[in-house]
Amino acid sequence: PVSPAVVTVTGAAGQIGYALLFRIASGQLLGPDTPVRLRMLEIPPAVKAAEGVAMELDDCAFPLLDGIDITDDATAAFDGVNVALLVGARPRTAGMERGDLLSANGGIFGPQGAAINAGAADDVRVLVVGNPANTNAFIAAAHAPDVPADRFTAMTRLDHNRALAQLRQRTGAAIDDIRRVTIWGNHSATQYPDLTQATIGGRSALGVVDDQAWVRDTFIPTVAKRGAAIIEARGASSAASAANAAVDHVHTWVHGTPEGDWTSAGVVSRGEYGVPEGLVSSFPVTASGGAFTVVPDLELDEFSRARIDASVAELVEEREAVRALGLV
Ligand code: NDP
Repeated sequence: PVSPAVVTVTGAAGQIGYALLFRIASGQLLGPDTPVRLRMLEIPPAVKAAEGVAMELDDCAFPLLDGIDITDDATAAFDGVNVALLVGARPRTAGMERGDLLSANGGIFGPQGAAINAGAADDVRVLVVGNPANTNAFIAAAHAPDVPADRFTAMTRLDHNRALAQLRQRTGAAIDDIRRVTIWGNHSATQYPDLTQATIGGRSALGVVDDQAWVRDTFIPTVAKRGAAIIEARGASSAASAANAAVDHVHTWVHGTPEGDWTSAGVVSRGEYGVPEGLVSSFPVTASGGAFTVVPDLELDEFSRARIDASVAELVEEREAVRALGLV
């Protein structure tokens, strides 16, 4: 029998947690052969709600669910962890300055990075979902000097999936026929959803669409502002689609990308495409052997270069702010 993987979810009693935990326990994160031990980390006032979610998880009688631990202690939560999904974060509230937001999140992601450094399994993989996700991942990685930097990632898979969905809607193509879509930069409104490398059924996606104005004036802003559109329509932020993207991200990381395709993920830059080393930026990535690799040697047109530079400039600013606050 395979020994269970320890999967830790922070903010486990939140909206995304509620959409995420059942899919992990059912086997959709790591596959049907891997039993899962779930660790739920919450802040003390939310522990009782987490216990209620755990009761529901019990009541699903998932064959792969080996057990559930609930804690408000990061050290306990990350002891022996194989997959860490960092969902809980301090949301921006009305009147909050950016420095306050970064400070509050530094107080969460710094100690969590340190706890991962102290206790995680050798093969630990970390996905940061809580916003500002890229910079929170940067903070966590900075507090985990003994964990290889490539184990810290930030989620842009939801943006990637949103781009696929918009392209399907526009062209009628099957999702599986759409390849090589990329999200570059920060998981924020400055992100660059890039179709210049994308193909549909082997043909250039831009050729199939044949409408530059649609790409610039509709596609890019629709993908970049989709989160706000969902809040406006639903009265709450996207949760199930965010959880779905987190499942996709880890599943791809562990099981690989299909031949000839890639996905998008925020990974620690080694200087690729001029992105300063150490920043957590979204890139086109393949996955194989349990590791992500940034797709090399793509030619960037002038528009793409400018859009990537603008989003990376925002990441640099966030890094400088975090440094100025002494959070790393
Ligand atoms: P959600 O579960 O809806 O969201 C959690 C985080 O995910 C937020 O930072 C949110 O950012 C972010 N996020 C990233 N991508 C998306 C997306 N596409 N759509 C929506 N959200 C996205 O928040 P809840 O308030 O329901 O739950 C948060 C839980 O976290 C609470 O139970 C709280 O107690 C807990 N928490 C736990 C901590 C810990 O374990 N140490 C620390 C802090 C909080 P955004 O706000 O920008 O939407």
